Amino acid sequence: MSRSLSRADEPGEPATDWHTVQRRIERLDEAVTIAQRPLQEELQALLDDLAGCSFGSLADNTAAANAIRFLMLRLEVRVECPREGCHEASLIRCRPAGRTRHGSFEFEHRRNGRLSTHAASTKLPALKLVPAPPHARRKQAK
Ligand SMILES: [Zn+2]
Repeated sequence: MSRSLSRADEPGEPATDWHTVQRRIERLDEAVTIAQRPLQEELQALLDDLAGCSFGSLADNTAAANAIRFLMLRLEVRVECPREGCHEASLIRCRPAGRTRHGSFEFEHRRNGRLSTHAASTKLPALKLVPAPPHARRKQAK
C-alpha cells in the first residue's frame, strides 16, 4: 500500500503504464480464485452433510437456504439443477408452497432470460457445486 502510482493527469509526470498495473491486478485476481478453492470444498462438504435435512420450521429452512445462498454468492459458485435436461447453475431458495408445512427448497435459475425454479422438495436436496456462470462473475468486463 506504500507505493504510490504516478498521476498521468499532471503535466510533466510520466503516464502510469496500465499493462504493469494490469499484471498486478491479474495476479491478485488469480490469488482470489486460488484462495476460494478450499472454502468451496468446505462448503461442498457441508452441503453433503445436509442433504436430506429439514430444519423443522419454515423460518429455519428459509434462514438455512438464505445463508447457503449468501455463501454461494460470496464464493462465486452455484448448484446444479437436478432436473433432467436442465442442469442449469442455480441458487437454492426456500419458500412457502402448496401444502408444505415448513416450506419447499427449490433450484432457482435463469433459462432463456427468464427466472424459473425446478425440483421443489421439502428436504434440502443433494447439492452439487458448480462454478458461477461467467456473466455473473464478470459483469464489469467489456
Ligand atoms: Zn432447472
